[in-house]
Parts: sequence; structure tokens; C-alpha cells
Amino acid sequence: MDKTVLVSGGAGFIGSHVTVELLAAGYNVVVADNFSNCDRTCFEGVKKITGREDLPLEVVDFCNADEAKAIFEKYPIDAVIHFAAFKAVGESVAKPLMYYKNNLQSFLNVLQAALDKGGCNVLFSSSATVYGEPDKVPVTEETPRKPATSPYGNTKTMCEDILRDTVKASEGKLKSILLRYFNPIGAHPSALIGELPRGVPNNLVPFITQTAIGKRECLSIFGNDYPTPDGTCLRDYIDIVDLAKAHVFAVTRMMEGKMKQDCEVFNVGTGRPVSVLELVNAFEKVNGVKLNWKFAPRRPGDVTAIWADPTLANREMGWKATRTVEETLKAAWAWEKHLAGK
Ligand code: UDP
Repeated sequence: MDKTVLVSGGAGFIGSHVTVELLAAGYNVVVADNFSNCDRTCFEGVKKITGREDLPLEVVDFCNADEAKAIFEKYPIDAVIHFAAFKAVGESVAKPLMYYKNNLQSFLNVLQAALDKGGCNVLFSSSATVYGEPDKVPVTEETPRKPATSPYGNTKTMCEDILRDTVKASEGKLKSILLRYFNPIGAHPSALIGELPRGVPNNLVPFITQTAIGKRECLSIFGNDYPTPDGTCLRDYIDIVDLAKAHVFAVTRMMEGKMKQDCEVFNVGTGRPVSVLELVNAFEKVNGVKLNWKFAPRRPGDVTAIWADPTLANREMGWKATRTVEETLKAAWAWEKHLAGK
């Protein structure tokens, strides 16, 4: 196979795991990143895992149209997977213009550059955030989207619409798949790549692992009075390697012309709701560590319960989540220990 995939934001948490899986599947990969939100740890980890010292890296700011265009001129790109975006919900509320400018402009430039080169396959990393607080769970791809509760969430909804409209107008030049991720967690089994949050983590699992290693004093569980079995929120935690593999299935589906529509949407989740408390308990049990935690007030903007109905991805793409929460939490802990040199 001689197909090339451009991975924008390829040095980050999801991008690095996707790069590993694409290489394993035989694709040529070009990693592009401006390192605005990550360092080179994961990129170096990818090279180690895959033994690909020659892995192409382009330091590119996709907000610059010329830079985006130059990448498409330099490589014969068959598909682009777009991750290059800011992702902190709280920060997006404080700095909406920064989020709209970065997340929209970079995507517009990627689409324009792809079109200027005659088109390609586009995989967009969307999020379950587009469903907001759903009226019914689990959510299918047909579940109506709800108004986003943050500028970050808004950029996901807007990019979905931009992509759909652009594909429609492209007269077959662009084909696209939107993957709506649920809660990606964990790390590569090698413990050479994983999540590297800057500052205090917003997400649950990095906060858990940092508390367990002693970097944080105490985990706050936000809310124990939700209308759920144990009072804490329910989410669909998807293993990062399973999630990465979904991208390979999606890229192959586009490349092999197996799509039923020019713009398809798939939920990427397990279909299994897990509460915050269950996750914390599982982490302690599987890793044999005691976690310092307390209940705290609800976090504004959190939805009570959301999990995926992944039937469409299972049936159409042939992809299915395979790893248990326990395996995933073991990998997350191994990664945190690797970072601490333990
Ligand atoms: N959460 C928590 N303490 C934390 C971080 C998160 O209790 O320090 C909870 C949060 O309220 C939510 C779940 O963990 O119910 C997942 O949150 P996360 O930020 O990881 O992902 P989200 O679902 O918000 O995208």
C-alpha cells in the first residue's frame, strides 16, 4: 500500500496514538504539529514504538494558509486527519476569540488546501459534546445536537457544519467522516506515549493518576447528587488505543470507497456507562493504590449522563472497542509512573 495520511496535531495525545496505528496498518504518515499545546515527548515515543526514526514531522501552524498549502504541495496526501485544535473547555470560556480563531481558521485552511490540490479524504475529530445533555441515552448519530455550553464545544459543532457544507459543494472532491469521541482515556501499553496535560488537569483520569503519584493532593469528585445510581455522573470512557484504531477503520473505509454517503458520522464509544465513583474504585483496585478523594460541588456545565450507542460504527466500519476499563486504567497508571521515572 502506498497511501499517505496527514495527521494535523499529530504530536498530541490522540494524534500520537493514531499515528502508531496508521503506521502499523501500513499507511505512510506525515505528522504536522506546531507544538503549541504539547512537547516532543509523544512524537519521540511514537518513533520508539514503531522503530520509525525517519517519521516525517512538519512544524506547521495551520492557521497560516500558506503553511497549510505548502504541506499539501509537498506530500501526495490521500487523507487528512484533523486534530490541530485547542481543547480546554474552561479556557475557551475565558478566551472565546482565541478558540474560534484557532479552531476554525486552521480547519478552514486545511479544507481549502485540500480542495486546491484537487481534494482528498477528511477525517474530523468531533466530540460527544455536540449532543449536550441528551434527552435520551445512549445516543445514536441521529440524536439531535444541542447548543454547545462552551466556545470549545461550539467549535466542534461549527466544524462539523463547515465540513458537511464543504463536502456537499465539492462535487465529489472531498469525502469525509466525522468521529464523535466519548471520553478517551488511558495510554499506549508500551507506556511510551500518553496524555500530558499542561498545568492542573481538567479531565478525570489525568487528575486521578496525578493524585495517585503525589502531584495533586486530593481528587475532587464533582457532584454526588446527580440522578444516577450512585449520584455521580455517567460517561463512556473509551480506551485511547481502541479510539486510535477507529481512525484506521475510518481512513480505510474512505480510501476503499466503501462509504454510503460523502459525509458520514460515527460515534466512537464503548456503549458502557461508568460512573465517576466506579472509575475511581476500579483505578484503586486494579492498580492496588489508595486514592485521596472527596466529594465536591457539581462542576458547572457538566452533563449528568452520556454514553454512546456504537452500533453504527460496529456494523458499518467493523470497529468495536475491545479493552476493559481495568486494562485502560492500568495503562494510564503505567504511563504516569513512566513520566515520574518510576
Ligand atoms: N470529574 C471529577 N473530578 C475531576 C475531573 C472530572 O469528578 O477532577 C468528573 C466530571 O464531573 C465528569 C467526569 O469526571 O463527570 C468526566 O469529566 P472529564 O473532564 O474527564 O470529561 P468530560 O465528560 O467533562 O468531557
